[in-house]
Amino acid sequence: MAAKQKTLEDLFLETLKDIYFAEKKILVALPKMAKAANSDELRAAFEKHEAETQGQVERLEQVFEMMDKPARGKTCPAILGLVEEGQEVMKDFKGHEALDAGLLAGAQAVEHYEISRYGTLIAWANQLGMTDAAALLEETLAEEKNTDKALTKLAEASLNQIAEAA
Ligand code: FE
Ligand code: FE
Ligand code: FE
Repeated sequence: MAAKQKTLEDLFLETLKDIYFAEKKILVALPKMAKAANSDELRAAFEKHEAETQGQVERLEQVFEMMDKPARGKTCPAILGLVEEGQEVMKDFKGHEALDAGLLAGAQAVEHYEISRYGTLIAWANQLGMTDAAALLEETLAEEKNTDKALTKLAEASLNQIAEAA
């Protein structure tokens, strides 16, 4: 007999576990990035997103509950790599004027990963008829996109500051 076919629902659940793991790692990384930031605006942006991320973890737990599954993460090598790159920048650029630009670039890479994941999860949730889950995930996607936009603005400001100092 052939092995049981894995379904789109299986794939959705695996990817939900991936982003759940990632959000929890981000929750640990954001306060460190806030502490490292030179500019008060950047620190405030990281702190704001830390609070949002707490809510995002809770939304994911609600989606697990809707599926009658335990909320469990699955190692996401992508977020581990992105967090590691961020730590490298913090260490190598500590006390240097380009630090914030590096922190911003790292943070945007994380937001882009999340935007990609949530976009996919929303499409799959809709395909699976899980409209309540899709609506929750849309709320999070909007926060990730707004964060990315805010970080872009701060990145422009940071580059202007570096130019003025030169
Ligand atoms: Fe997030
Ligand atoms: Fe992943
Ligand atoms: Fe985010």
